[in-house]
Amino acid sequence: MKARLNKQQIPCREAEYYERCADGTAVCRLCPHNCRLKEGARGHCRSRMNREGRLWTDAYGKVCAVQVDPVEKKPLLHFHPGDDCLSLAAAGCNLSCRNCQNWRISQAAPDELDFRCLAPDDVVALAEKASCRLVAYTYTEPLTYLEYTRDCARACSEAGLQNILVTAGYVNEAPLKDLLPYVSAANVDLKSFSDNLYKSVCGASLAPVLRSLELMKEAGVWIEITNLLIPGVNDDMEMIRRMCRWLAAHGFGENPLHFTRFFPQYRMSELYPTPVRTLVRAREVAAECGIRHVYLGNV
Ligand code: SF4
Repeated sequence: MKARLNKQQIPCREAEYYERCADGTAVCRLCPHNCRLKEGARGHCRSRMNREGRLWTDAYGKVCAVQVDPVEKKPLLHFHPGDDCLSLAAAGCNLSCRNCQNWRISQAAPDELDFRCLAPDDVVALAEKASCRLVAYTYTEPLTYLEYTRDCARACSEAGLQNILVTAGYVNEAPLKDLLPYVSAANVDLKSFSDNLYKSVCGASLAPVLRSLELMKEAGVWIEITNLLIPGVNDDMEMIRRMCRWLAAHGFGENPLHFTRFFPQYRMSELYPTPVRTLVRAREVAAECGIRHVYLGNV
């Protein structure tokens, strides 16, 4: 296992999924933001940067959080119940949710945090040492450092381990397709069913997330969906009904849907916790739409 290293010793790695431009900018094609970065600039996710006209994935191998969790904490309730998973994260997220519960690591650049250097083989060794057959890429957005997630997932697959993504699913199709062969299960955080809310609350958009859900399903990934209900923000029952109808119509009727309770935090600290009756009503609506497995979380 590699020891903790001085930050200055850690080279970041040249990214994939980008275009070099004659004017010295670099256009990242990893996620739908498609950031055009000037020399020295970082992307919306903070984990990719332009140095001398090239794009670098600064989060590669810099693990800021690692621990063993029950798989139910992801949450995944229909995938290896009772098993533990090695859970790890590097800094960065391409969304900027006003309610983020992990904002200290998701809204930071890799070098702003303490980190531990773990090569993909180190992740395999850590999982085996902890007797985990599952490895979860979680807490931040594993798709913003997709090259690292993919390399770890490939190494884990080759060692007979199974990989779990906990993600908001905001990514372009080509890189996602490169990752999915190594992914067994995912919990996808569907923030709402409104493009306006995606923009105003999360700085993103809805359509790419729905496309990611479809691609994961086509790839045979086991999917569970989380929808955090924030009072007065995304708890409109007609919107929830539209979301559930879309899920049922697109073959997700058997995939668990987790409605979770919001508690005030980060830039939404002025709000109140979600009333439990809202979650119960959402569950009724989902059942009416044909979603068979509906769970309430944080209750
Ligand atoms: S992954 Fe980061 S740098 Fe790339 S387009 Fe998305 S937000 Fe921008």
